[in-house]
Amino acid sequence: MQETITELENKIATLTRLMHVSTKLNSTLHIDDLLTQIMDAAADITNCESASVLLWNSNTRELVFTATTTDWAHDIIGKSVPLEGSIAGTIMQERRVVQVDDTSSDPRHYTGIQEDGNFVIRSLMGVPMTVKKRLIGVLEVVDKRELPWTDDDQQYLSALASQAAVAIENAQLITELKRANDELSQLDKLKSDFIAIASHELRTPLGIILGYASFLQDQKEPKTRQHAQKVMKSALKLRKITEDLTNLRHLQQNPKSLQLATLTVEQLLEDAHFDVLAMLDAKGQKLHVTPPPETLYVHIDRSRLVMALTNLLANAIEFTEENGHITMHAEPRSDEVWIHVTDKGIGIEAEQLDRIFDQFYQVENHLTRNHEGLGIGLSIAQALVEAHGGRIWATSDGLGAGSTFTIALPLASP
Ligand code: ADP
Repeated sequence: MQETITELENKIATLTRLMHVSTKLNSTLHIDDLLTQIMDAAADITNCESASVLLWNSNTRELVFTATTTDWAHDIIGKSVPLEGSIAGTIMQERRVVQVDDTSSDPRHYTGIQEDGNFVIRSLMGVPMTVKKRLIGVLEVVDKRELPWTDDDQQYLSALASQAAVAIENAQLITELKRANDELSQLDKLKSDFIAIASHELRTPLGIILGYASFLQDQKEPKTRQHAQKVMKSALKLRKITEDLTNLRHLQQNPKSLQLATLTVEQLLEDAHFDVLAMLDAKGQKLHVTPPPETLYVHIDRSRLVMALTNLLANAIEFTEENGHITMHAEPRSDEVWIHVTDKGIGIEAEQLDRIFDQFYQVENHLTRNHEGLGIGLSIAQALVEAHGGRIWATSDGLGAGSTFTIALPLASP
């Protein structure tokens, strides 16, 4: 009777240990901590001297000795263990538990590990570690203090191995994600630096081109004047691009460098309207501006917010056919003013509505696109609006159905 009670108590202790380990395994994504916890628990619940983890490298197709609690075996960490001629290899290939009472009489026992005279592996049990039927490695325990191996040993070790496999896989995925993320940040920085240098370096030659073109525009010869005008137009476009890039970078580095003043929403709309008159004219389009029904005030950096609005208007002009109509209207919404720029142009698919605010993102493929631009107008507008504590978003009923871009700004007192 007493024996049964002790046995039951032991089982409860082991199951409790297993439960604790499984919560711990879920709480860390650090691979070394995980492996240590797995091995300590494995040795503990099977009453063994030590434990090891071997992981399958699917790229090199090798079973790699990854971690062990046995001090003298640390030398072989990182080395591969043969699939043929090792017990771990057998477990891996046959996908089953293997237990050996006396390794000296088992020909599969791998002797690649240099055992010193004081410490020799006598007995061993290993279980495969699988995630959704995919083998990721082998968990081994060695030198059971009191042989024989029991069914409980097998069951506990297998239960631990399946939990461990999921935890290891997650940790590996996170490590891989972190690495990819670091690489992306690095690339992003390179891209930003390149843009900054390129746009800065373009400024001087562009200034010279513009100077000469404007001089040639004044010449009497009509052909020369015509050519000079073309050069001037292209050079101005290029200057707009370098300005946009510089603005974007400036915003990213100094998001709060605003010169704030209080003005009416109507003034803001008028300024933006004025800025796009030439563009509207060029396409024979009309912009209908509806100010808010009552005077509303905003505390803003005037030139910056005019830039945000003109970016929206420039897009509406660009993506609307010639002689088309565009509207810009403002309305109070609780403690905000909402300014909508609406066109009846090409429209935007629902899944693109958020992405178009990403830097350099354009819906059309840049090789086949009909429209000019760098894909930064909206990201500049977004950065500017957010620097004012506002929001910006787009809505559209889909392709061909036009779009509405809305800027929401906090209202201020006069
Ligand atoms: P750019 O206009 O220089 O390409 P933007 O950041 O201003 O860059 O816009 C990003 C993309 O969003 C555009 O290339 C276009 O695909 C889409 N877009 C922006 N405004 C509109 C609009 N009014 N109608 C349809 N598509 C638009």
